[in-house]
Amino acid sequence: MNYPLTLAHFLERARLLFPSVEIVSRKPDKTLHRETYADFYRRARALAEALTKAGMKPGDRVATLSWNHWVHLECYFGITCAGGVLHTLNLRLHPDEIAYIASHASDRFLIVDDVLLPLYDKFKDKVKFDKVVVVPLSGAPPKGSTSYEDFIATAKGDWQYPAIAETDGCAMCYTSGTTGKPKGVVYSHRGMVLHALASCMPDMFGLSQDDCVMPVVPMFHANAWGIPYSAVLTGAKIVFPGPHLDAESLLDLCEREQISFSGGVPTVWLAILQNLESGQRKWKLHPKFRSVVGGSAAPPSLIERFDKFGMKVLHAWGMTEMSPLGTISHVKPHLAAQGEKVAYEYRAKQGTQAPYVEMRVVTPDGKIAPWDGKTMGELEVRGPWIAASYFNQPDAGDKWSADGWFKTGDVCTIDPEGYMQITDRSKDVIKSGGEWISSVDLENAIMGHPAVAEAAVIAVPHPKWDERPLACVVKKPGAAVSAADIRKFLEGKFAKWQLPDEVVFVDAIPRTSTGKFQKLTLREQFKDFRWAEERKAG
Ligand code: AMP
Repeated sequence: MNYPLTLAHFLERARLLFPSVEIVSRKPDKTLHRETYADFYRRARALAEALTKAGMKPGDRVATLSWNHWVHLECYFGITCAGGVLHTLNLRLHPDEIAYIASHASDRFLIVDDVLLPLYDKFKDKVKFDKVVVVPLSGAPPKGSTSYEDFIATAKGDWQYPAIAETDGCAMCYTSGTTGKPKGVVYSHRGMVLHALASCMPDMFGLSQDDCVMPVVPMFHANAWGIPYSAVLTGAKIVFPGPHLDAESLLDLCEREQISFSGGVPTVWLAILQNLESGQRKWKLHPKFRSVVGGSAAPPSLIERFDKFGMKVLHAWGMTEMSPLGTISHVKPHLAAQGEKVAYEYRAKQGTQAPYVEMRVVTPDGKIAPWDGKTMGELEVRGPWIAASYFNQPDAGDKWSADGWFKTGDVCTIDPEGYMQITDRSKDVIKSGGEWISSVDLENAIMGHPAVAEAAVIAVPHPKWDERPLACVVKKPGAAVSAADIRKFLEGKFAKWQLPDEVVFVDAIPRTSTGKFQKLTLREQFKDFRWAEERKAG
């Protein structure tokens, strides 16, 4: 049968099979809001009806400016199942940038958390929404505004799903690019459905109705890695952390609700690890707790240190342009049989491709690299949930190859077993004397030093070698370590010419709005750095 792959099926499945399953959200005042899938179903459909009555037409963009919570989940389904396009705005961006993005996407409606109204106030004069709906998370919304609760209360409940083609858009996100203007990516129902089905497979996220799922990754970043859709598809219990993303609050939720699956960027997990290792408090966590870590490279030491607490870290890689899931690292049984050391080596890689994602590595001279684990090149991908273009951005065509592959901008190797390993962003790779040095490998190694909190390695111009690596290191509070100690620690782990020539200590590594190292800012900061030999020469 020619049966359309649309998200309405997920919503109906939730009503039929999982009505009593809970959705728990932490509110700004730290109290917990609890509802069931039955409530979620009714309210998501009420939102769909209210938006349709308010004049939303198929394909219209509806923006959200929200933390992770139950209303945002209703938006994920209510907007999309009514034929609208859910546009999640990144609340960590500068107000001018949010205004640019909302205008570029021609968002017609905005659904905004009351606690984020001060942010909205900073850009509201720059964007014209037809209607703004305020989510009352912390009391009644301001006078004169439309409350989300009043808005959905207008629904009669007799609303019918519109005819939606599986290729119709259902959601969009803008990339948090560190250069140039942000670019929009539109996801289709078909892409989202296939992404959710694939992500639930045992060798991917392995989600099931036995799970209690907590997406720490924001719902405004790359569809929260598709976790809201995958969780509803399987009927898993869902726990949303709201705005409280510190280690203590997250661990408290993990213990209280017995979270078995989570996902977030390495920064979040590093903070959690520090809390666990401090031993301040013993947390009673789910015995099979696992978490997907991605968005930037998970240091191998992070994976090993979590194992000591019986918590399994799964390393994954993806991009906004890929819905976002590309690869995940599960160790094949015959590799695991070779012992712990080998298993850790594979777990630290970004992993093997998801079903229906294809990968190839293209070397600087345009050749397709062999899967030998050594030859570096730019990673190109294609598949049913990978963007074929940017929204309204005709000049961005150079991101796709002539034969239709998406150029990721990530530099990597793929080994004979199919495990991909990112060595850099193409703009971050260090080009020294015609050879490439991976900044990520060096950072991972430095972050394995017990006195180091975090480290970023950047390319700095060099008179002889073109570029050389400079390590920018943040010490752990109270720790003492010298530049010479760090260099000594790296010796033997790398070829001599790959070692950072110098180490500088900094207070913090600048980060992007999604928690990644902002190396562009660091490179700016150190662009006039003079190496020891230059300083000596005067
Ligand atoms: P975004 O579109 O904001 O999700 O960023 C995507 C980019 O994040 C990728 O192109 C990579 O450069 C980086 N990234 C995501 N996951 C990983 C990972 N596991 N290891 C290294 N880099 C990653």
